Amino acid sequence: MKRYWILAKKDEISLSIEQVIDNALSKHLSKDELHPDLLITVGGDGTMLRAVQLYLEQLETVHFVGIHTGTLGFYTDYEANEVEQLIQDILYEEYTINKMNMVEVNYQRNQANYRHYGLNEARIENIYSTLVCDIKIDNEFLETFRGNGLCISSTSGSTAYNRSLGGSVITPNIPIIQLSEIAGIHHNAYRSLQSSLILDQQHTIYCELKAINKPVLGVDQLIFDIDGVKQLEFKLSKRYVQFIHYRSISFFDRIRKAFING
Ligand code: NAP
Ligand code: MN
Repeated sequence: MKRYWILAKKDEISLSIEQVIDNALSKHLSKDELHPDLLITVGGDGTMLRAVQLYLEQLETVHFVGIHTGTLGFYTDYEANEVEQLIQDILYEEYTINKMNMVEVNYQRNQANYRHYGLNEARIENIYSTLVCDIKIDNEFLETFRGNGLCISSTSGSTAYNRSLGGSVITPNIPIIQLSEIAGIHHNAYRSLQSSLILDQQHTIYCELKAINKPVLGVDQLIFDIDGVKQLEFKLSKRYVQFIHYRSISFFDRIRKAFING
């Protein structure tokens, strides 16, 4: 890696770590905001999500590594007290690259086509009134869903919003998407699957919106207005994010520290 850029969260600790990394790396590598091949984030997993969206059109050439100023993150391999280690690893260590698939959403609005990519997930959310939508998998009708929304998560997003919805945590590198309900309504008149549904990469999920009132589409930390949209299509994208690993961190260590006994 020859050209780096650092994206830091705007808090005191993250900004001071950014300075330390920058001072060390600038002696050896060139600094390039427009076309970096190494993008270093300082902050949380949210900072990594922001970085990915900023460099969405350059994912084939940018490699991401993160230092977490909270605890260990899911997209970040280093903790705040490991800044010297990170610098040494960037300058001298061998690395492996792990490609993480994104979720892709497509829809039409006012005769224009829209496409977004989420590293974690894409969600339809409707807080003003119940969302009613027909869900089709490929050409087959599955169910009419009623509730607050739907979350379509990637493998790496399985530990984020998806997990709060009772979805499954998936080990890395399994090419799936996971559909989870956000507060589904289930009683004698209305019924939907209730559990999360995991689909392989050949399948596409279509959501035909029936009753909606100011719905929004959430894609990672971004929000889009989808008022007037009739149907959205969700699938596993061919686009992926390249994470660079200078050392290996066990996935089970991450989930144990984050969720069980940190
Ligand atoms: P945020 O409110 O800071 O994110 C909520 C939490 O999710 C933070 O603790 C964040 O970690 C963590 N997170 C993000 N990606 C993760 C992943 N892949 N695995 C495990 N934890 C993860 O907002 P944000 O930082 O802008 O992140 C946006 C993401 O937040 C969305 O993509 C969505 O998945 C998630 N979210 C979750 C809920 C929920 O669980 N009810 C609600 C809204 C959004 P950091 O503190 O390290 O940033
Ligand atoms: Mn965050």
